[in-house]
Amino acid sequence: MSPSHPASPSVVHQHAALLDQLPFADTRDFDDVARGLIAPLDGPVVDGSGTVVWDSSTYDFLAGPDARTAPDTVNPSLWRQSRLVAAGGLFEVVPGIYQVRGLDLANTSFIEGDEGVVVIDTLLTAETGAAAWDLYRRHRGDRPIKAVIYTHSHADHFGGVRGFVDQADVDAGAVRILAPEGFAEHAIAENVYAGTAMARRAGYMYGAARARGPRGQVGAGLGQTLSTGTVTLIPPTDLITTTGQEVTIDGVRMVFQMAPNTEAPAELLIWLPDFKALCTAEDATHNLHNLLTLRGAVVRDPHGWAGYLTEAIDLFGGDVEVAFASHHWPTWGNERIVEFLSLQRDLYAYLHDQTLRLMNKGLTGPEIAEVLVLPPALERAWHTHGYYGSVSHNVKAVYQRYLGWFDGNPAHLWEHPPVEKAKRYVDFMGGADAVVTRARSAFAAGDFRWVAEVVNHVVFAEPDHAAARDLLADTYEQLGYGSENGTWRNFFLSGATELRDGRFGTPTTSDSPDLIGQLSPDMLFDAIAIQIDGPAAFDEKLAIDVVLTDDAARYRLRLANGVLTYSTAPQRVDADATVTTTRAALPAVVRGVADGSQVQVTGDASVLARLAALLDPGDQDFAIVTP
Ligand SMILES: [Zn+2]
Repeated sequence: MSPSHPASPSVVHQHAALLDQLPFADTRDFDDVARGLIAPLDGPVVDGSGTVVWDSSTYDFLAGPDARTAPDTVNPSLWRQSRLVAAGGLFEVVPGIYQVRGLDLANTSFIEGDEGVVVIDTLLTAETGAAAWDLYRRHRGDRPIKAVIYTHSHADHFGGVRGFVDQADVDAGAVRILAPEGFAEHAIAENVYAGTAMARRAGYMYGAARARGPRGQVGAGLGQTLSTGTVTLIPPTDLITTTGQEVTIDGVRMVFQMAPNTEAPAELLIWLPDFKALCTAEDATHNLHNLLTLRGAVVRDPHGWAGYLTEAIDLFGGDVEVAFASHHWPTWGNERIVEFLSLQRDLYAYLHDQTLRLMNKGLTGPEIAEVLVLPPALERAWHTHGYYGSVSHNVKAVYQRYLGWFDGNPAHLWEHPPVEKAKRYVDFMGGADAVVTRARSAFAAGDFRWVAEVVNHVVFAEPDHAAARDLLADTYEQLGYGSENGTWRNFFLSGATELRDGRFGTPTTSDSPDLIGQLSPDMLFDAIAIQIDGPAAFDEKLAIDVVLTDDAARYRLRLANGVLTYSTAPQRVDADATVTTTRAALPAVVRGVADGSQVQVTGDASVLARLAALLDPGDQDFAIVTP
C-alpha cells in the first residue's frame, strides 16, 4: 500500500470553519443512539470457510475523539455521523420492539408477538443475519420466527434471510414472507441487467475493500459499509398491495403504507398500532438520501417521495410515539417525530421544486448544484445533511430525471470521448509536464476540484505518467478528506487507492445462486441477450425453442443481426433446435451447469454451442480512474 498524506492546510481550515457553522451543541442523536442498549455486538462474523465477512472492531478508532477533536483527515460532520452509525448492539426500541444495529449496512428489527417474533429486514448476508438473530435470541429467548417482512427491494434488506429462516419452514407454512408488490421483479432486475457495472462502482461507493481509519474508510453515512458474506433470497409468500391493508401475525397488528418509486421501486412503511410505532423503512432516515445513488441506478422520484411522507404524517402523525427505520437509530416522542418527518419531506420536495424552478430559467445541473442552498431550518437539523445523498449530486439527478444527459448546449452534443479529449487538452495546455507543474500550484492553493479536472486529462492522455498519477491520487485524497458525504469520501479514496496500488475489482457481489434461481424465463433470456457480443454475432442466425414442461410454456429464441429476441407466440417455421427442460432447472441450463437428466435437446444441438460462443460477460475489474 502506498502511503497516504496528511490533510492540506486548506482542508484543515475548512474543517475548523465547519465547527463554528454546524450545530454541534445539538447532541440529542447521541442520546437516541445509545437508548435501550441491551447488549453490545460480538466479535467478528465469519463465513463457512472462516473468512471474516464483518468486523465491527475495525471502527473502534471512531470511539475516542468527538467531532471537535476529529482527525484533520475527516470532515468533522462525517466524523460525527460515523460515530453514530458505528454505535452497534441489540437495542430495545420500546418493550416488544428490538433492533440489531451496526452489524451490516442496515438494521434488522424484531416485533414480539404472542409466542414468536416478526422480523423486519434481514441485513445483507446470511452470515450477519444469523449473527443478529443469535444475539437477539441470547437476550430475548428462543422465540420462533413467524414472519419476515422485506420493506423494500434492495439487497441489504433481504439478502440475509437464510440467516434467520429456511426455505423448508416457509414451504411448511410456519413462516410467512411479506413484501411490497413488485418486490421480486425489482430485487432481481436491479442485480441482473446492469449488475456488474453497479457492483464494481459499489466497490468505490462503500469502500468495502479500503482499509478503515482516519485516512481511510470511516463509514458510508447510511451505515458503515457492506458485509462480504452470502446474499440469499427466499421469495415472498404474501405481497402487500394497498395502503391501509392490515395484517395480523402472531398477534402483531400491522397496517401498511405503500411507497413505490421512492427510495426503492417497491417499498412500504409499517404502522404498528399497538405500539404506536412507525417503521419508515428507508424513506425517512438520519441523512439526506440518494435520488441517484453513486453506484448507478434509475433516478428516483423526489416529488412522489415527499408525497408519501406527507401521507405518513397524515395517517400516523396523530398517534405515533416512536419511529424506527431500516437504517440509523429511532426517534421518540410525537412532536419530534412529526418534525423529523416534516423536515425530511420538505428536504426532498425542496430539492425537486427548486431544481425545476432553476432548470426552467436555463440553469444546467452543475450550475444548479452550485447555487442551491437549503432553507436554514433544514441546515440546522443533522438528519438532513448529505452523508449518503448530497445536494450536489441529487440536484443533478433531478435534472437528469426530467431532461437527461444533454444540457442543450451544442458544444456538449458531440464531444470527443475521454481519451481523445484528454490528448487534445494536454497538447493545447503545453504537454503533460507543463500541466502537472501548473496543477501543483493549484493544489497548493487548495483548488482540488480544478486539479482533478486537468490532471485527469493527463492520466487519460498518458496513463504511465507517474507524476500525474501521484498528483491525481493526492488530489482525490484531499477531496475525500474534505467530504461531508461518506460515499463521496469513499469514491475519492478508492480512486486514489487504484491510482497508487492498482485495481481492487469488485469486493462484494449479489450475483448469488439464490438470486439467479429466482430469475423468470424472460429475465434469464434478457440476461443472455445483454451478454451477446453484437459485432461477433452480425452474421449469425439461429432459432431455438425452449419448452418448459412444468410451466406449459414455449419460448422461441431468435438470434439475428447481433440481437437475441424471444417470443411466446406460435411460430410459422421450425427452430434449429428444441431444448426441453423445466422452469426450475432453466437457470442451471442457462449457466451450463444442469445435469443431463434435467434437459433434452432435439434438432441441431450445435446451435447451443454457437450461441454460447457469442456470450461476452461483464468485467468485474474494469478501469475507472485510468483509461
Ligand atoms: Zn438499505
